Amino acid sequence: MAHAVLALGANMGDPALQIAQAIEAIAGHKQISLLKQSTLIVSEPWGKTDQDRFHNGAVLIETTLAPLELLDFCLATEAAIGRVRIEKWGPRLIDIDIIVYDELVIDSQRLTLPHPHAHERDFVLDPLREIAPDMADWLMIQTDNKSA
Ligand code: ADP
Ligand code: MG
Repeated sequence: MAHAVLALGANMGDPALQIAQAIEAIAGHKQISLLKQSTLIVSEPWGKTDQDRFHNGAVLIETTLAPLELLDFCLATEAAIGRVRIEKWGPRLIDIDIIVYDELVIDSQRLTLPHPHAHERDFVLDPLREIAPDMADWLMIQTDNKSA
């Protein structure tokens, strides 16, 4: 079984509700066990700043899904909750990103692991540190190695 952390974010509709719906879908998947759930935090928008504040959280899961299968499940869950992609970094009903998947390092067209922006975003790092401090430490070492 692999361990992975998924980051959840939303700034449209009822953010806490969509995040709860996402966690329900994650916990309900046959090939996923929900191990830990962070508290929700509120953060200022990143990248594109003229939009509402975000709610963010993260979950630690155990899964038999392969990384791309997990990505497909995240994207399908976003769509099921009603996400429509309009602009990069724009407002969203729900965003579900894979932050880490065991100690996998991948840089492919569809999937980059660990998540390329996680280490520079407190709204990802704070929930990650709360539920999986070892994975947060590993992530920071990875990104240090890259920039060195
Ligand atoms: P963002 O999360 O950066 O705001 P999107 O949610 O629209 O953007 O995702 C765009 C694409 O990012 C996805 O279709 C997926 O192929 C790609 N992607 C690459 N690495 C990851 C990852 N670690 N987690 C989630 N999506 C990823
Ligand atoms: Mg995303």
